[in-house]
Amino acid sequence: MSIVWDPRVCTGCPHTPEPPCARVCPCNLLYRGHDGKLACRDKTGCWDCAACVKACPNEALYLSLPPVIGGNGARLYGRAYRDHTAWRIQLSGGKVIEIKRPALNKIVQSTCGVESSSNSPKTE
Ligand code: SF4
Ligand code: SF4
Repeated sequence: MSIVWDPRVCTGCPHTPEPPCARVCPCNLLYRGHDGKLACRDKTGCWDCAACVKACPNEALYLSLPPVIGGNGARLYGRAYRDHTAWRIQLSGGKVIEIKRPALNKIVQSTCGVESSSNSPKTE
């Protein structure tokens, strides 16, 4: 697996001091490059955790999946919202699988008996 980004879709998030994808990377691999778009210091240091994928407001990033999961060229897209994460797996034949999972904080809240009704994106 590896992260891939489309420079035609990446805006570089110029309105933020640090792009959301870079802010959430646990390995500090991502940054805004000289061209104003996403850049990566070292792809070999990537954990494939998909935190950057979920944080991007434009779905400019995806995880390239191994053929055993979805065939050649399969991709994992995602978007984190306050209450849930919406995953989208794009298989090699064009079929799309959508999976909605509660956000971790939502699971903790329900475990503790606390409710939240907000559904706005985390990164906006
Ligand atoms: S969050 Fe998305 S649009 Fe913003 S810099 Fe990262 S990849 Fe580009
Ligand atoms: S997948 Fe995880 S470790 Fe890899 S670049 Fe994205 S946030 Fe960083």
